[in-house]
Amino acid sequence: MGEIYQIFGSDAAQMAYQLLERMGLNLNSKLKVGIKPNLVLAKPSISGATTDPQLVAGVIKYLQHQGVKEIVLLEGAWVGAETKQAVKVCGYEQLMAEYGIQFYDLKEDQFTKCYSGDLEIKVCRRPLEVDFLINLPVLKAHCQTKLTCALKNLKGCIPDSEKRRFHSLGLHQPIAHLNKILKSDLIIVDGIIGDLTFEEGGNPVQMNRVLAGSDPVLIDSYVTQLLGYQIEEVPYISIADRLGVGSSDLTKAEVINLNQTTTGDKLELTIGADKVEALYQYITEKEACSACVGSLIHALQRISESSGIPQDLELFIGQGFKGKSLAGIGVGSCTNNCENNIGGCPPTAREIVDRLKQLW
Ligand code: SF4
Repeated sequence: MGEIYQIFGSDAAQMAYQLLERMGLNLNSKLKVGIKPNLVLAKPSISGATTDPQLVAGVIKYLQHQGVKEIVLLEGAWVGAETKQAVKVCGYEQLMAEYGIQFYDLKEDQFTKCYSGDLEIKVCRRPLEVDFLINLPVLKAHCQTKLTCALKNLKGCIPDSEKRRFHSLGLHQPIAHLNKILKSDLIIVDGIIGDLTFEEGGNPVQMNRVLAGSDPVLIDSYVTQLLGYQIEEVPYISIADRLGVGSSDLTKAEVINLNQTTTGDKLELTIGADKVEALYQYITEKEACSACVGSLIHALQRISESSGIPQDLELFIGQGFKGKSLAGIGVGSCTNNCENNIGGCPPTAREIVDRLKQLW
């Protein structure tokens, strides 16, 4: 059975450390460990685009406490962006100085021609050379592939020419095959702030959660539900499953929650969050947890992308509505006295989408 560990909160460093402790990660101190965040472009993590450096700090602290000496940071930003600029703007220079970590810009790396079946893929050498690869993607929706998380994050480990070719090949096949060649040994998903629609951020959604596991296919399958999609809507997941990269069978997954959701630490997400703001007009919120509101925002976006949202829709959410009998639709188990309720604590965006469609 595949395990997915989940923790809620906003102290990224502490959350990463606690997850690794709970997972019992115990690496030989002689291993060379590679850390691959998502620094797709030069925008800080609060934009929803990039991995929170504090999440990486928590991982490094844990590894260094275990005696691991060689830890390297690996990234190649997307075509058109400079990785070094992303490293700087996203707060990673300070992190590397503090922990004595070496950084490799994969845009300057050499590559090796690798094969998965008949498909040749050029892969940067540095990621292939590490003994243990830790993949730290951001939980984001994506305009072309719908989801970008664990499997797609490895696209930063190929040269720019190959990134362009991946697009000409339709993304799904090559992303799955790349993961057959380059294995993520551990995945830690930054779901504290992700994006509603785009890889480059700009519509940040605070969900205050971090997930971890060792199967990138299972992790991606699980997070499709958190964004309101179905696994079949992201073809590279089932292709990766067929290739033996991992399992997309969520019925065999065990989700281990380290704590409960929290109502605190709401951030002012002011970086061009117009789409998110527009969706808030349908929500009446009182003391709601960020994970719950995040699920609802993603659900509303998915509905607006398909059938559209009825203008008179009003949804109640939050602990402030516990025990209140309201005429309308309540989201989350706190609002189970509402005329109609979508249960769960927190419900996934997918559960909200399905139930809202039933109610309409
Ligand atoms: S159902 Fe209530 S307690 Fe649970 S996540 Fe939602 S707001 Fe928080």
